[in-house]
Amino acid sequence: MSNFTDQCQSIINFIREQFPNKDFIPLHEPSFSGNEKKYILNCIDSTFVSSVGKYVDQFEDMVAHYTGAKHAIATVNGTAALHIALLLAGVKENTEVITQPLTFVATCNAIKYCRAEPTFVDVSMNTMGMCPQKLHDFLKNKTEETADGLMNKETRRVISGCVPMHTFGHPVQIDEIVSICSEFGIPVVEDAAESLGSQYKEQHTGTFGLLGTLSFNGNKTITTGGGGMILTNDNELAKRAKHITTTAKVPHQWAYIHDELGYNYRLPNINAALGCAQMERLDQIIEAKRQLAEKYKTFFKNMDISFMEEPEDAISNYWLNTIKFKNEEDRDTFLTMSNDQNVMTRPCWELMTEIMFLNDAYIDSVECAKKSASVVVNIGSSVSK
Ligand SMILES: *Cc1c(COP(=O)(O)O)cnc(C)c1O
Repeated sequence: MSNFTDQCQSIINFIREQFPNKDFIPLHEPSFSGNEKKYILNCIDSTFVSSVGKYVDQFEDMVAHYTGAKHAIATVNGTAALHIALLLAGVKENTEVITQPLTFVATCNAIKYCRAEPTFVDVSMNTMGMCPQKLHDFLKNKTEETADGLMNKETRRVISGCVPMHTFGHPVQIDEIVSICSEFGIPVVEDAAESLGSQYKEQHTGTFGLLGTLSFNGNKTITTGGGGMILTNDNELAKRAKHITTTAKVPHQWAYIHDELGYNYRLPNINAALGCAQMERLDQIIEAKRQLAEKYKTFFKNMDISFMEEPEDAISNYWLNTIKFKNEEDRDTFLTMSNDQNVMTRPCWELMTEIMFLNDAYIDSVECAKKSASVVVNIGSSVSK
């Protein structure tokens, strides 16, 4: 065996050691060791498993309280939360929404649901999230103020929003991004699907922008089976978010009155029951995730393969632990070796600039995203209990 494959084998062995008594090591599995079963059974016994029930309100209150957001509105998944947040931010047909080429496809799907096009501004190497400098350069040099709004000089489309994403749970430089966007009059919607509990300068991700969104999919830090949340400090937007995610029904004792196009995006009560139990344990889960990250950090100290640490001024939830290889070939060797041995590892997503249905998107810069995407691997990140 070469020195490199020796190193790969020792990494695989180390990952395995973190999850004793397991044949297959998943990337991220949920943990239900608290009140999950109790609340779900209680929900079933109450018969209120669907669109009405106390757990939804309770779950929203818990998430708002935890993150420090003034309002939290539960949705059926994180993509739906993004869709509605973008609509509420004012994203309209034939406009452009700035985002990063390195993200999960849901970010771009939500932009397309609004019949808008993404505009890709590169990521920083250290956060793997939107680069404030490149964002500023793009806005300064490639756009102009018009009667319709800030316009991309090349595509002649109005820029209607900006969606930075906190990659793998690591906060982007969100305060800078928000301040640049406000200078240019662009609303920010934070895609915090991966970063529940992560903080930047002692403030929770998802609470910096006009709106922020979370996901509670099965692979995320905590899960409701499927679910999402819209965060905002704006009273009016919060009211509107609740209204249009619940079919835009006007409250009335018995009549069906719908005063605008609404969506059936509400989170069922049975999912929210799971969410309440998970929220009770969120601090403990993040603590365990940070301890695991600390072990990885120590292990990779003397390796040619580097471990991604939380950025400056940030506390990360370390949703998915991430390592970086020297080149794509090394990465692929490791991916094959680890998955052959039932130790699940995964590369980064396909870049959004490569996706066919996003052919009309405007690409400002993609270099660092490309470089990162070709060398990054996510490794086992579950908590044990
Ligand atoms: C998980 C995720 C979402 C939302 O996903 P859902 O499965 O719809 O809850 C959105 N953006 C990013 C970056 C994600 O990782």
